[in-house]
Formats: sequence, structure tokens, C-alpha cells
Amino acid sequence: MSYLGFDEYEKSINRIGEGVVFLAKATAKDGAEDFIIARGVPGFKGEDLGEGRIKAPLDHENAETLRKLLPFTAPSRVLTKDRSFGVGDRLGIAAPGHIRIFERYDAYPVFAQQSIRELNLTNRTYEDVLDAVTFAVFQEGFKKAWGADGDHLKTVKDVEYALSLGFSMITLDCSDHIKTDINDANAPALPGNYAAKYLNRQFDIGEGQVLEFSEAELRKIVGVYGEAIGFAADMYNRFLKDGKYAADFEISIDETATPTTPLQHYFVARELTDAGVRFATMAPRFCGEFQKGVDYKGDLSQFEKEIKIHAVIARHFKYKLSIHSGSDKFSVFPSIGRETRGIFHVKTAGTNWLEAMRVAAVVDPGLYRQIHRYALSAFEEARKYYHVTTDLSKIPDLDSLKDPELPGLFDQNDSRQLIHITYGLILNKKDSGGSYEFKDKLYKLWKENEEVYTEALVRHIGRHLDLLGVEKQ
Ligand code: ZN
Repeated sequence: MSYLGFDEYEKSINRIGEGVVFLAKATAKDGAEDFIIARGVPGFKGEDLGEGRIKAPLDHENAETLRKLLPFTAPSRVLTKDRSFGVGDRLGIAAPGHIRIFERYDAYPVFAQQSIRELNLTNRTYEDVLDAVTFAVFQEGFKKAWGADGDHLKTVKDVEYALSLGFSMITLDCSDHIKTDINDANAPALPGNYAAKYLNRQFDIGEGQVLEFSEAELRKIVGVYGEAIGFAADMYNRFLKDGKYAADFEISIDETATPTTPLQHYFVARELTDAGVRFATMAPRFCGEFQKGVDYKGDLSQFEKEIKIHAVIARHFKYKLSIHSGSDKFSVFPSIGRETRGIFHVKTAGTNWLEAMRVAAVVDPGLYRQIHRYALSAFEEARKYYHVTTDLSKIPDLDSLKDPELPGLFDQNDSRQLIHITYGLILNKKDSGGSYEFKDKLYKLWKENEEVYTEALVRHIGRHLDLLGVEKQ
């Protein structure tokens, strides 16, 4: 195909007034990077090709221009939709697959979703993360709303950074303000009106659910969550109250050592609501374990009992439950879909990295073997940052596996977690000459096998959405 003399991405052609803008594929003489061609459209910076045509590189400034001219390339507030689903793209290569999925399913994607830790591990910035999605939706002509999540942010500086770039949601991680050492002996006395507000009363939250606080329980809850509630209210008042930023607010209390009980959940929601904090979603920590990259571990019937009450509480206060570390939690998706009545936010992140590594195992077994061996040696270092119960002795010995058996490692929990949590170390590993040992080879491999990767993602994320009960459109 050729358009105005360039090899164009057909779906990227957009007419603006008398002008036109589209994405062109790089030819051998252009180098590896695709570029924007704008004719008769002001704002883009790049090489002047004459006749009003600009050849503009895929940089931050041109991404900003694109977001202004074509609003579908900018993030918007999708937490307000019934079903939203976060699929952060750590590597900046998953967007075509993610786009294909959400063209099909009745759910809204959060394509950009990274924590500061993930940025550091991948040497990316929020500008990179957002711009990569902008260019991908432009390329594919994806016109549905999509979100950008400043994920698990903890500081004024980080929240401000994400909002200033136009991120459409902030996930406030309150974990540093949640006390983990509160017991009957050291729980504080009840402040102010709390006794009158909460004790000797029944809280009918509807659907047959009634909650009651004992004094001892209430004192502990205040001790554990008091400061976190103050922190969340402060951040809300500072950034979101006046409506200066078009962003949704998610309260994350899930990164704690113990599950959030329904009473704790109710208390946090009630206090935030009474303080005037408006939030779209809350992420409690559910019972059992949501470990990275593997199915739910824990008592399923207990989970079903508790998700029911958590869902009623969220409906009562009119926000959505947010499920974190949602990748591969196939055994609990049906109850999440059912109990939330199809109104939820689910976040996955590392699963697209695992699918990318599965592709590596399929197409370059030799490279995969090197990476796997390195991951084994780096595991102890990586596990400092994650709560996982990986048993390395259950991972089959690499030498005993034939090449076609390597992808099967991604069907085994322990080897999934091994590769999952070592991703930063794998990508950043340098050889003795100071070059990346694996990163460049992997990116080249993924680029050459883009369609294989896209299909793997569509299949894998599609399975998540199917089990959550999301319908195809
Ligand atoms: Zn979380």
C-alpha cells in the first residue's frame, strides 16, 4: 500500500479539516522507527518535506500534539464505566494485542498502567509509557475510550507527575500509612465522635447484609487505618477536589500483610465518604493469596463468602471493587463477575511479560535457555521485592527438556513465578562489555514475531475476560 508516497498504516489515516495525518512504516533507509506524516495539519515538529508535509518522529512532543488533535489518542476516565480492565504494558510492545482484545469485548481498557517501581526496573518514564500507547492506538485506529493509571503511587511528587501528563486515574497506595502492629493492648482510644457514630448500632448496607462493630474491634480498625484515611483525604484535597485534573481516584489498601475484613472495608469507605473524598474504585486485600502470575491460592468458599460482602459494601457507597494482581486468577473470576454484577476494575500487569517470554521460548530456545539459567541465579535477589512461595525444586531441569517442551514451562506455577519476578533483572543484565545481554535480542525477537505475540495475548487475556463474564460485542 502507498499513501502520499509512504507505506502507511491504513487505519491511522485521519483527516483534520483540509489536512491529513497518518503513521508511516519505516523503510530500510529510514531506520527502525516508524514516523508520522502530517500534511496541512499544524503543530507537528520534524523534517519539512515540502508541499506542506512534515515527517515527524515518534517523540513526546509529537505525541502531545497528536493527543490534542485526535482526542481518541489521549487517555480518558474509564473507571466510571461498568467494566474496566488494566493491562499495563511493561515492555511497550503489547498494545497491538491489547487493542485487538478490547475491540472485541464489552470492557474498557487501561492500556497505560505502571508503578514507579516498574518504571525504574524497565528504565522507562511516564512520558514513554503514555506515548507508546498514544502511538499504538493511532496506528490501529482504536476509537474506544482507554485509561492511563499512575499505579500504586505514594507521594505528592509522583501523583503530580502522572497528573501533569494527563493520566486519567491515580491509584493511591496507602500501604505505608496502614499500621501492621496494632493489637488489643496498643489500639488507641476512640477519637471524637467515633463511639457515638459506630458503637451499639447496626449498619444495614442492603441485600441482607448488616455490619456491627464491637468497641475492641473498632479501636483496632481506627489504629490500623486512621492515618491512611487522613493521607488519602489529604491527597484527594490537594489534587482532585477542585476538578483541575480530569482523573479518577482509586484507593488501594491491598498491599498489606493481612486481608481487609468487611468491617475494615466499610469503615475506610465510610470515613472517606464522610470526609468528602470521591473515589471511583477501592482495592481491598482479599482473603487467600493473589500471587503474581499464578492462579488464586486459598480457600475458594471463604473467598466467595467475602467477595459477596465486599461487593455489597462497594455498591452501598457507589464505587467499584478493584481487583489487583488479577492476572491468571481463573478460579475466582466467575465469582468476581457474578458478585460484582459485572461492575468491576481488574488489574493485570506481568502476564503480558510472561506471554512475551513464552514466545521467546517458542522461537529461540537457545536464548530462552540462557535467560532461564540467569533467572535461576537471580531469583534470590528478585524475591526480596515480591511475596511469592515459589519452589525452585519443582521446576524441571532445563537439560532434561527438549526444545519443544520449553514453552510448557509457562504452564507450571513455579517456573512462571521464576520468570515473572526476575523480569527487571533479566532486562537490565549487562555483559562484560556493558551492553544489554538479553534485552536487545528479546526486543528484536518480539518485533520479528509481533503477530505470534499478539495472538498469544488475545488468547490469554481473552480467557480472563470470558471467565469474568464479559461479553463480546
Ligand atoms: Zn495493589
